[in-house]
Amino acid sequence: MTDQHAGLPPIELTPKDLSAWRQGNRGVDYVHTFDSGRPGPHVIVNALTHGNEFCGMIAVTHLLEQGIRPLRGRLTLVFANVEAYHRFDAAKPFESRFVERDFNRVWDADTLEGPDATVDVQRARALRHIYAEADALLDIHSTSYAVPAMLIHEPVDKMAPLARHLHSPLHHVLLPGVKHPGRPLIQYGAFSDPRATPVALVVECGQHFAATSGAIAIGVTMRFLDFFGMIPAALAAQHPPVQGRPLRYEVTDVLVAKTDRFRFTQSFVGFEDLPGNTLIANDGDEEIRTPEEGCTLIMPARRILQGRDVVSFARRLQ
Ligand SMILES: [Zn+2]
Repeated sequence: MTDQHAGLPPIELTPKDLSAWRQGNRGVDYVHTFDSGRPGPHVIVNALTHGNEFCGMIAVTHLLEQGIRPLRGRLTLVFANVEAYHRFDAAKPFESRFVERDFNRVWDADTLEGPDATVDVQRARALRHIYAEADALLDIHSTSYAVPAMLIHEPVDKMAPLARHLHSPLHHVLLPGVKHPGRPLIQYGAFSDPRATPVALVVECGQHFAATSGAIAIGVTMRFLDFFGMIPAALAAQHPPVQGRPLRYEVTDVLVAKTDRFRFTQSFVGFEDLPGNTLIANDGDEEIRTPEEGCTLIMPARRILQGRDVVSFARRLQ
């Protein structure tokens, strides 16, 4: 494992005590469902898929503390990988992404129904029936480096109206098919079936520990709830999208570190537009270069682990 260009960012967001929210009403800790008693979708706002990504926790605790209840359908609020969250150490803030296994790379039947006994996979098993109920899932994340916030979803027709309504953040990254080593939550079950109606997307709200990431997470969450008619229009109006035309990208490849000697050649942070055949990393004895047509780098990893994804290549769409 290596830490790319170490040097810790300021820690403006810190963990809150979530003990008041441990006891939920679904028989699973840190899960709360609010039923409006009226017809409508079941919408889930999911925080802490990664334990050190606090902006989702900021958004979900905001909803809980403000007592926001759905006007229609059901609203479920989830703190996902709480075990990892509880291990946060400000001296090593990048090490509590997960405990033993990335909670966001386990959403296939082989893993969920297999022998893996890590706490992260056990938590996924405890939550899977909740996610399977969702008509819509907002999975809130943040990035290692300070790059613009982005929406990430599959390029399927059913996602387009929601992405248009959210509008901002103004970077929209389309992720066609499962390219990561291990299936992400937004590609679990019906979410990635283009013929099924459930929708799921990730919002990456900016740097993990930046105060702005918490504010972006709250704004996107409010517009997400507004899309489904779950909050009063006046409340939604307090969280308008950023003005501007979204930039759209499509992921073409997700690179995985084959060795424990993977090293980037420069201090990439993400959204670098690179010409074709640019040397970006060495992985043991292998040179890693951009594709002939060039690409944009998306989310280079700060902690590099053999066998895990380290950066995505994307192409800019019109
Ligand atoms: Zn994340």
